[in-house]
Amino acid sequence: MHEWALAEAVIETVLKYIPSTERNIEVCIEVGELQQIDLDIFEYALDKLKEEKNIPSIHFKIVVIKALLKCRRCSFEWTLDDIRNSLGIEELEAVHFIPELIHALSRCPRCNSMDFDIVEGRGVRIGYLKTTGGDSGSQTGANRKENEYH
Ligand SMILES: [Zn+2]
Repeated sequence: MHEWALAEAVIETVLKYIPSTERNIEVCIEVGELQQIDLDIFEYALDKLKEEKNIPSIHFKIVVIKALLKCRRCSFEWTLDDIRNSLGIEELEAVHFIPELIHALSRCPRCNSMDFDIVEGRGVRIGYLKTTGGDSGSQTGANRKENEYH
């Protein structure tokens, strides 16, 4: 299942960054609003894999990143919230499951162009890793490009 594969990839990456002796790590996972993923299953998969790999001290925090769209013609930027009212509930649902549909359903609010990019809101990536509770409070900036999963 997709969610399990993503959870596995995230955990493998995290384990590369953190020494096995490290305790109390908070890992922020950024999930794009347009990513096709069931967050409940994803969280469940993370929990189960934590048990399996015996890493109870790692805490996952999932943050949903809002979609940001940018017009290629006039450079105007807008979000799904901006067009939520013009899209019906069914369209929004459809976009959640098939992100590519956004191209068929949305237009630039300024120039009406259908030629736009999805700047933010796709993929799953690690936002940050940080130690919690300890004195060090060190933060590892994981390379975003390298750790992006689709
Ligand atoms: Zn435009």
